[in-house]
Amino acid sequence: AGRRPYNFSAGPAAMPEAVLQRAASEMLDWHGSGMSVMEMSHRGKEFGAICAQAEADLRTLLAVPEHFHILFMQGGGLGENAIVPMNLSRGGQVDFVITGSWSAKSQKEAQRYCQAHVAASNADSNHTQLPAPSTWQLSADASYVHICSNETIHGVEFQELPDLATLGSQAPLVIDFSSHVASRPVDWRRVGLAFGGAQKNLGPAGLTLVIVRDDLLGHALEICPSAFNYRIVADNQSMYNTPPTWGIYIAGLTFQWLLGQTEGGLTGVAAMEQRNLAKAGLLYDFIDASAFYENKVSPDCRSRMNVPFFLRDESRNDAFLAGAREAGLLQLKGHKSVGGMRASIYNAMPLEGVQALVAYMREFERSHA
Ligand code: PMP
Repeated sequence: AGRRPYNFSAGPAAMPEAVLQRAASEMLDWHGSGMSVMEMSHRGKEFGAICAQAEADLRTLLAVPEHFHILFMQGGGLGENAIVPMNLSRGGQVDFVITGSWSAKSQKEAQRYCQAHVAASNADSNHTQLPAPSTWQLSADASYVHICSNETIHGVEFQELPDLATLGSQAPLVIDFSSHVASRPVDWRRVGLAFGGAQKNLGPAGLTLVIVRDDLLGHALEICPSAFNYRIVADNQSMYNTPPTWGIYIAGLTFQWLLGQTEGGLTGVAAMEQRNLAKAGLLYDFIDASAFYENKVSPDCRSRMNVPFFLRDESRNDAFLAGAREAGLLQLKGHKSVGGMRASIYNAMPLEGVQALVAYMREFERSHA
């Protein structure tokens, strides 16, 4: 059989082929148990081992310190837009930095539970620049500060997490890292809570990761559903209710795959970061050198994971997408709110996939310029 097409979906997104094959080989009988993982009790010893391994591997992979809990939840990124303020806001003031659609959604949802103050926004640049942290209007008494560390739709990424202490804020930083989790290291000294759906870089939709500093547990509002109360979820090792067992299993296989990756003497996330830099650099350099294509994001905050780009002559969009499909390059259509194209190049996208995309773009330009 030939290679599978390269899949540039923003999420649910391409998975490492080795993970899919491993899951396929274990589908009918996981390790001699006589069961598929999706048929196991979450309280049984088999799934207990799978879940504990996944959690330990994730802790290693992301270098999560011991004073953080790792929670496997459901509800996705948008669920967390309500769950975080219910757990952390104490009904008070929260600072939001708006850098694109996802942080804007977070701020809007949080208004139901707290005073959701906009401390900064890049709306006037059409979400193509990051407002410098020194310009953020942070509150003196915020319960937390929320950012989206990688804006999937607008292709804007924080290359460094803000150090709130140096900005005069004592508040914990909450990051929505849905679309770049495990693509680069996280500086946990600057983070109070990180959340993200698994369906971009880690596994199937349905699993939501929450990594939360211990002192932030136990402050949930009365109205918070028990199944979404971080303290309760943590005290029950993510098994207060039935966790997304299949998602945890597949993400666990991905964690093992990631831990085994090496690049230039580096392993795991550090290796992935090198590869992701090379992939993104190749694509942005090509786009910047072309008069046919364009990326509008300021170079200092361009996402390594999500590359939105435009054909300067948009009447060629349909032909571009049809040709791409024929060339085995799938799901390149941009988000409807932005238009144009978007190439999502998560961990599972090999350098060869980006090289194939650039070769196709070069040929399309040559034959249509
Ligand atoms: N935040 C970010 C950064 C995202 O990319 C997405 C999904 N594209 C979400 C939140 C929403 O996640 P979900 O669909 O899992 O609720």
